Amino acid sequence: MTDSYTRFANGGLKPLVKKLGLPQPAILRRYRPGSPLTVGPVLVVSDDASAPDADAVAEVLTGWDLDVRRAADLAEGEKFGAVVLVLSGAEHPEDVSGAVLTVGGTLRRLAGNGRVVTVSRAPEPGDAPVLAAARAGVEGLVRSLGKELRGGSTANGVQLTGGAAVDSVSAVATLRFFLSAKSAYVDGQILPVGPSGTAGDVDWDQPLAGKVAVVTGAARGIGAAIARTMARDGARVVVVDVPPAGEALSAVANSVNGVALQLDVTAADAADKILAAARPLGGLDILVHNAGITRDKLLANMKADRWDSVIAVNLASQLRINARLLEEGVESLRIVSLASTSGIAGNKGQTNYGYSKAGVIGHTAATAPLVAAAGGTANAVAPGFIETEMTARIPFATRSVARMMPSLAQGGEPVDIAEAICFLASDPAVGVNGQTLRVCGQHLVGK
Ligand code: NAD
Repeated sequence: MTDSYTRFANGGLKPLVKKLGLPQPAILRRYRPGSPLTVGPVLVVSDDASAPDADAVAEVLTGWDLDVRRAADLAEGEKFGAVVLVLSGAEHPEDVSGAVLTVGGTLRRLAGNGRVVTVSRAPEPGDAPVLAAARAGVEGLVRSLGKELRGGSTANGVQLTGGAAVDSVSAVATLRFFLSAKSAYVDGQILPVGPSGTAGDVDWDQPLAGKVAVVTGAARGIGAAIARTMARDGARVVVVDVPPAGEALSAVANSVNGVALQLDVTAADAADKILAAARPLGGLDILVHNAGITRDKLLANMKADRWDSVIAVNLASQLRINARLLEEGVESLRIVSLASTSGIAGNKGQTNYGYSKAGVIGHTAATAPLVAAAGGTANAVAPGFIETEMTARIPFATRSVARMMPSLAQGGEPVDIAEAICFLASDPAVGVNGQTLRVCGQHLVGK
C-alpha cells in the first residue's frame, strides 16, 4: 500500500507540495507479469577500453527485445527508459570521464521510473593503485547519482569480481534485476557478482520453476509477500510461523497452494522439521530466514528477556538451522536471510536488534563458502523502512520521518523485499554469494 503522503503528493496537492519544497515521492513502478522490462529505449554507453564489453551487453539486451541505442540521440518527445554505463575495462580514472559525462547529458531525458545501471569491475587484491582507484570510484558515482535522480528513477551497479564475464549468467541476471521494476525500491547499491556459467536458456518469467522453498515468519508482512512472490515465480512453498499465527498462516498457504508448518524457529529440532516438510514436495532448494522480532529499549533500560529473545529469534535460530542443513549436506541450497539497515547504520533503542542483524550479515558472508562447496549460495537482504505491522507500531512522527529519509522519499512495500529475495534465490544468481543487498530506497546517510 502506497502511504498517504505519497498519495497526496501525487494527487490534487502536488502543486502545493512542490511550492512548499516538500519531498516529492514518486509512485514507483512495480513488476507485473507481462509488463515491459524497461519504460523506454535503453542507451548503452562505455569508455573506449570497455567497448567490447558494451557490445556484449548490447547483444544481451537486444536478445531481450529491448530497443537498444548506442548514441544519445532521441526523437522529439522520446525518453530513455534506462542507461547502462559500462566501465569494466577502465584502467585509469581519466578513462571514464567521457562516458560518465555522456550519461550526465542524457539524464534530463530519462523517463520517470528510469534506470541507470553501471557495469564495472571490483578492485581486486594486487591491483595497481591507479586501477584500484578507477574501479572503486564507480561505487561513489552510483551512490551519489542515486541521490540526484528524481521521479522514481534509480542508480545501481553490477560489480564483476574474480574475473566474471560481463555476459555470464549471474552478471546478466543482476543487470536484468536492476533494469526491471522488480528493483523499484533498490537504489544506490553496488552488487558484487562472481564467475558463473553462460546465460543459455533462462526462463525469466518463472525463475523458480520446480523449486521447493521454505519461508519462515510467513503468516504476514514481508514473509507472506515472499511466499506469494516465490509462488508467482514457480516455486512450491512451505510457509512457517508460530502456532498462535496458525490461522493467518493457513490463509497464506492456501493462497499460494502451499503447505503450512506451525513451528517456532528457535526450537532445537527446527531444521529437521523444515527438511521433513520440504521432503514430500521434492526436497529443500531455497530457505528464507525471515522470522524476526523487535523488543526495543535503550540499552540502559534493557532487560535480559528483551535482549535474549531478539538474539534467539533473529540470529541464533538461523545459525542452528544452517549448521544442521550443512551437516545434512543439502545440495545446491540457496539461503537468503533477512538483515536490516539497523544492523548497518544502527538505530536508537535497537542495540539488541542491531546486534542480531549485523550478526546475520556476518554469518551470511561466512556461510557463503561453506554452501558454495555443494553448489549453493547464502545471501542477505537488508530492508530499510518497509510498511508492515512491525513498522506500524513505530510512533507516527518517527514513522513519517523514516519515510522521508530515503532518496526515493517513501517507505518500501513487502513485495520490494520479496522481489530481491526471489532474484537472489534464483539459479541465474548463483554467482552472487555472501552478499547483503540493501533494499531501502537508499535510506542511509552516506550509503
Ligand atoms: P512482522 O512482525 O510483520 O512479521 C514477522 C513474522 O515472523 C510474524 O508472522 C511472526 O509471527 C513471525 N515470527 C516471529 N517469531 C517467530 C518464531 N520464533 N518462529 C516463527 N515465526 C516467528 O515483521 P516484518 O516487518 O514482516 O519483518 C520480516 C523480517 O524483515 C524480520 O526479520 C524483520 O526483522 C525484517 N525487517 C523488517 C523491516 C521493516 O521495515 N518491516 C526492516 C528491516 C528488517
